[in-house]
Amino acid sequence: MRFVIGQITHETNTMFGVPTSVDVFRRKDWALGQDVIKLHDGVRDYLGGMIDAARKNDIEVVPTFSANAVPSGVIMRSAFDQMLGHLLAGIKNAGEIDAICLALHGAGSAEGIDDIEGAILNAVRELVGPELPVIVTLDLHVHMTTEMVEQSTALMIVHEYPHIDCYECGFSAIELAYRTVRREVSPVMRMISLPMFIPPTTTYSGPAYEIKQRCKHWEEKGLLHVSFGHGFPHTDVPVIASNVIAIADGDAKLAEEAAMDVANQVWNSREEFRPRYPDPATALTMAKEAAHGPVVIAEVSDNTGGGAPGCGTHLLKAMLEADIPNSAFGFIYDPVASDQAHAAGPGATISIEIGGQIDPDCLGAPVQVEAYVKSVTDGRHIVQSEMGGGRQIDLGKMARLVIGNVDIIIGSERYQTIDPEIFLQHGIDVTRYKIIALKSQNHFLSGFGTLAAEVIRTDPPGWTPSDLTHLDYQRISRPIWPLDDNVKWDQQS
Ligand SMILES: [Zn+2]
Repeated sequence: MRFVIGQITHETNTMFGVPTSVDVFRRKDWALGQDVIKLHDGVRDYLGGMIDAARKNDIEVVPTFSANAVPSGVIMRSAFDQMLGHLLAGIKNAGEIDAICLALHGAGSAEGIDDIEGAILNAVRELVGPELPVIVTLDLHVHMTTEMVEQSTALMIVHEYPHIDCYECGFSAIELAYRTVRREVSPVMRMISLPMFIPPTTTYSGPAYEIKQRCKHWEEKGLLHVSFGHGFPHTDVPVIASNVIAIADGDAKLAEEAAMDVANQVWNSREEFRPRYPDPATALTMAKEAAHGPVVIAEVSDNTGGGAPGCGTHLLKAMLEADIPNSAFGFIYDPVASDQAHAAGPGATISIEIGGQIDPDCLGAPVQVEAYVKSVTDGRHIVQSEMGGGRQIDLGKMARLVIGNVDIIIGSERYQTIDPEIFLQHGIDVTRYKIIALKSQNHFLSGFGTLAAEVIRTDPPGWTPSDLTHLDYQRISRPIWPLDDNVKWDQQS
């Protein structure tokens, strides 16, 4: 049996930032043919799971193309055309194949194309015809569209946020394709799109945890896959929505029943998704008063993982003012300050500005400091947490600065902190610290979930706020919860 595998993933924030070029993809993931295997084999991501599942079932994989970038502005049309071209050429040149397994995101937009996943699947279908199984993995922050459902055999969304189960999702996609090709199962999908969208919300606790359990309940009852797609709120496209997908084995009625049951639970619990987070100064006071450390303070509104710059200074400024011993921030995106720290070298004291280079009116102005350069590094490390574990990361020139009682790490590439490695490579053992600050919504739980004594989120002005009423949406479909009052959903539809 021969399966094609490939990946085009991008979480697009159309509201901010500059258009995303090929170069931005190349900095993270851009591979053709066998290089796809080299990059992903042994890594806990979608393609890593697909490669291992193929190996287990004696399936020959035909790697085509993989591309992935840090979440950022709308994808340039030329970049999208190039990516799609590579994927289609790979499929065309694959020869005789039995199935296609693709890792897509679900919240990707290119210039002139709001729903790139629909466009990709359309083009793939046109090439291979209606019969070939096309199984797709998707990020939890997917906007599911009718076109995606119509042009694929099965759409499988990760269950977890942080996305610690990408590997398992990729693995399951190959196994479902395998069983479909052998005619052991016949996937039937039902997707329900709700007139609501939610701020980024973890599945480790709270309403999203309860909904995840309900999805698992249906899977235990024999459904092939049931999942809640949260949607991605930090963009402005008409297809924004929270969705539920249920896949049954040949039984459309059962898929309908499961999807409707989970959708009802999502709809009925929507008020629980409203965020109530303290401002940075209050968050720091709460952390200082906590009995045990480390207390992780997450600045959710400047999350590079949602397309924000990572150079915002609201929490940084509050932290330097509070000057609490044993506190560290990892990290602030600032290539200029990183260069200056490298030029001065460890042991030097320098007078510099940190952060605030992009949109200071919203994200906060640069902060002028006298900083002692404790260490400098090349920013290269290997992810150790469940999410993407094994993956090589290169954050360019980084430095650990000591300012009063506070350690501040600065770096040269936009990246979301998901595990303690960034601290560790700068000599900081986070378990000895009282306060650990970082810029992330939930992925940090992948690496800090078990070691944090407490987690506090703060939501100052930024590009990825949890309070969605702070964003100026122009194109999304209205009415929609939580922006509009009295939004109705006909639960029998
Ligand atoms: Zn996501």
